[in-house]
Amino acid sequence: MRPRQCAHPGRALTHQVIAMTTSAAPHLLPVFARIDLSFDRGEGCWLVATNGERYLDFTSGVAVNALGHCHPHLVAALQAQATKLWHMSNLFQSPDGERLAARLCELSFADFVFFANSGAEAMECAIKVTRRHHAAKGHPERYRIVTFEGAFHGRTLATLAATGSAKYLEGFGPPMDGFDQVPLGDLDAVKKVIGPQTAGILIEPLQGEGGVRAAPQAFFKALRQLCDERGLLLVFDEVQTGIGRTGELFAHRRLGVTPDVMSLAKALGGGFPIGACLATANAAAGMTPGSHGSTFGGNPLAVAAANAVLDVMLKPGFFEHVQRMSLLLKQKLASVIDRHPQVVSEVRGEGLLIGVKAVVPSTDLVTALREQKLLTVGAGENVVRLLPPLIVNEAEIEEAVARLERACVKLSANQTKQAAS
Ligand SMILES: *Cc1c(COP(=O)(O)O)cnc(C)c1O
Repeated sequence: MRPRQCAHPGRALTHQVIAMTTSAAPHLLPVFARIDLSFDRGEGCWLVATNGERYLDFTSGVAVNALGHCHPHLVAALQAQATKLWHMSNLFQSPDGERLAARLCELSFADFVFFANSGAEAMECAIKVTRRHHAAKGHPERYRIVTFEGAFHGRTLATLAATGSAKYLEGFGPPMDGFDQVPLGDLDAVKKVIGPQTAGILIEPLQGEGGVRAAPQAFFKALRQLCDERGLLLVFDEVQTGIGRTGELFAHRRLGVTPDVMSLAKALGGGFPIGACLATANAAAGMTPGSHGSTFGGNPLAVAAANAVLDVMLKPGFFEHVQRMSLLLKQKLASVIDRHPQVVSEVRGEGLLIGVKAVVPSTDLVTALREQKLLTVGAGENVVRLLPPLIVNEAEIEEAVARLERACVKLSANQTKQAAS
């Protein structure tokens, strides 16, 4: 490693900051509080750490590796594409991109798809589509979007403003204008905030980062009706819920409510970065040549990965399997809660987007689970998310619950000790 010398006095602080952050990654911008654990490879629902230890992965890279690690069909698809063409500019035709878009439209309400590289970018497109729709209809003043407390839509400046959380916005200057946030599930608040400048309503069918928080189905139906009455676009952020996570290809199928615009990303490429914004022809009325773009969007490798994900998910029985595993996991979690009410108090969620509300600090539970070699991820409202790959089997669910049980026993013992001292 290159020796570090503070040749410039002004850089001393920078080096101090670097020295204070994780020593394992002195050059990665310290925006993540990284756990001191790294992985060499994955196999299905399992991850093998660089020290050889095996972990049961109930994070799926935060709802990304829907088909687990190194699914043979995905590996083959990516290897085949890697020998043909890695990148091609959107200046030219994209037959595989068109095939993926056609499949997504066939499977959804949409007529058009824009490919991006991440969830935030898919959301950026969704916001632009929504604003431009009204501009194209002669109402450029209609640009505001109603959003909900507890939402998460990404970390770009526009999606941060949509997210609306003070903790993410602080220090980045005035948040981008055009978002009106109201409490989740509060229809009166929605009605009150809608004005002559409102362009649409943006909501997650099930809040992931916010703590696996649901709103009643009737609320979504009412939003749809409100949008139809007021000429607003209904936008669903399905970046986390979409592509099988909730036991359907799209979470809104379960709600029986169809949006005008939808963003996808996380699981779409099964681990390869790709996002998508889907829209009806009417919603996309403003998106003319030159109005939006992306260098990498719809990259051949990403498109090959996403087409391969759909190949697997569209096989008969795939979603039935997810629903069966969901039921099994929820039942077993309920019995853990019965036995350890001082550690965990509630199971939430749909499909394999499951949240366990912790009584102890959720970070303690995540740590205790990691010590049992079960990887999970925290969320808002002191919830721990269980996001296994959708290919998880019964034995793996039983193993995960056994590990949770052991973690709960340890945490209860700690609590008893603390109470005694
Ligand atoms: C993760 C997530 C995003 C942001 O996706 P990135 O790929 O991190 O930009 C947006 N919306 C929802 C609901 C998400 O869960």
